[in-house]
Amino acid sequence: MKMRAARMYGYKQPLQLEEIDVPIPGPEEVLIRVGGAGMCRTDFQLIDGYFDTGLAMDFPITPGHEVAGWIDGIGSAVPKSAGLSEGDQVVVFGSWGDGACRQCHEGNEQLCAHGVWAGFGRHGGYQEYMPVDYRYLIKIPGPSELSPENLAPLTDAGLTPYRGLKKLLAAGHLGPGRTLAVSGVGGLGSYATQYAKLLGGGAQVIAFARSDDKLKIAKDNGADHVVNVRGKDTDAVRSELESLTGRADLDAVIECAGSEDSIRLAFSLLATEGAVASVGLIGNRVDIPLFPLVAREYTFFGSFWGNYNDLIEVLALAQAGQIKHSVTRVRFDDVNETLDAIAAGDVLGRAVIVYD
Ligand SMILES: [Zn+2]
Repeated sequence: MKMRAARMYGYKQPLQLEEIDVPIPGPEEVLIRVGGAGMCRTDFQLIDGYFDTGLAMDFPITPGHEVAGWIDGIGSAVPKSAGLSEGDQVVVFGSWGDGACRQCHEGNEQLCAHGVWAGFGRHGGYQEYMPVDYRYLIKIPGPSELSPENLAPLTDAGLTPYRGLKKLLAAGHLGPGRTLAVSGVGGLGSYATQYAKLLGGGAQVIAFARSDDKLKIAKDNGADHVVNVRGKDTDAVRSELESLTGRADLDAVIECAGSEDSIRLAFSLLATEGAVASVGLIGNRVDIPLFPLVAREYTFFGSFWGNYNDLIEVLALAQAGQIKHSVTRVRFDDVNETLDAIAAGDVLGRAVIVYD
């Protein structure tokens, strides 16, 4: 049987749209019929060579690490206790560790030094069928209102800011009387705004973005205030913040934009004992003044993707109807054009490939 696949044959080239054989799942694997494959800015970065030095690639590869779909076949050694059947709706947890290191034993397989990721050398969702180890599937109990196109982005865009906000929450930076900014309202930030309200414990939530269309999504997703930061220096943002919230500084920032400018802005607005959790990845370096970091006891969290149990929690929120989805459906034939639009920042919410 044949399937469509958008595959990468080298850096800085369009993906090739091909017809290839459907993969045969191994004994402990399950074959997924992909119902939705989220298109992440990281996919553009992969193709652009951002990870060139860090990841060894054997071309061709199929990108796509945000995947949801249905079970189409089950390997002979998948245990009955996994509770998986053909036709089940599932999401794929896309970060697969070696199972041997400290991080894997903690459950943080996304931090495994020997880990591999869906869509980064292993089969990804930019093809109609993909085999996945049964241990990395999460079943969505039916009947469910949730569609694969809405579920797929939850495995990264909807997971990464959740983990970052959990760090801010656990360290005591959120709660009544606190101000929490969501910096950047792209794929991650539209979810971050919602989690800021869900996990913020009464903190005022302010969204920063560089376009009014994106700020409208933030407002729709529960932000108390929004600030368009395009072309504004720190003082201009500070005075706008003061007129909106009554305070000219922030207790916490979930930094989803990931640019050098946006991280610098976050630190320059931080209150004493404030914290920034960085989840976005666009720039390469962080340049922040040392004296306030020490003397005002700032905290800086790196937070990468999310673990399996974080994803279970996100899916529980989705199943409880607590998550709004901002999804743009993408036809398979439009994958390359959509990657260009993502690179330019022109996609609202999450672009998701659906196979018709
Ligand atoms: Zn490991």
